[in-house]
Amino acid sequence: MMGPPGAGKGTQAMVVAEKLGIPHISTGEILRANVGHGTELGILAKGYMDRGEYVPDEATNQMVAERLAAPDAGNGFLLDGYPRTLDQVAELDKMLEPAGLEIEKVIELTADTDEVVIRLLKRAEDQGRADDTEDVIRRRMEVYAEQTAPLIEVYGSRGLLVQVDGMGTVDEVRDRILASLRG
Ligand code: AMP
Repeated sequence: MMGPPGAGKGTQAMVVAEKLGIPHISTGEILRANVGHGTELGILAKGYMDRGEYVPDEATNQMVAERLAAPDAGNGFLLDGYPRTLDQVAELDKMLEPAGLEIEKVIELTADTDEVVIRLLKRAEDQGRADDTEDVIRRRMEVYAEQTAPLIEVYGSRGLLVQVDGMGTVDEVRDRILASLRG
């Protein structure tokens, strides 16, 4: 599941994974948990996250490889917010291939920029995330455009990309995603 910051990726990944009965693997959540517990990874990641930058690929890739090796990932999973760079795309391919696994679909949640900023500022009030201030939101959007938007073409050319309008209620968007996965 990919999409610009504030498109509703995390919420939708959670409800869709639950509906499909597969684990929801959010790199952002795993990183935030590491920051919260003060692990070595968390200490490394915090500065990048607070500035709206991506955590270095090497650390992120290793974290995902470990998560995918857990037994519950053997029957499918929904990756939320990973891969986010071309290097991560290549690494994910390398993780899946030896296990005989492949990505079935890539969902891109699309969103209107103004709406997204409003959503993120609201989330800042509700959840108090350190990376939801206006400057950092702007930086996260730039980073998405520079480093993650190119993945749309990569997965598009592989025939895996499904674009879903992320505007609307949680239920409306969820139903669109589930319909597009069936189609
Ligand atoms: P998210 O919860 O998906 O919005 O992610 C929050 C933050 O965690 C991002 O702004 C990045 O700093 C970091 N992050 C999450 N996923 C990745 C990833 N795949 N690669 C690099 N950094 C990531």
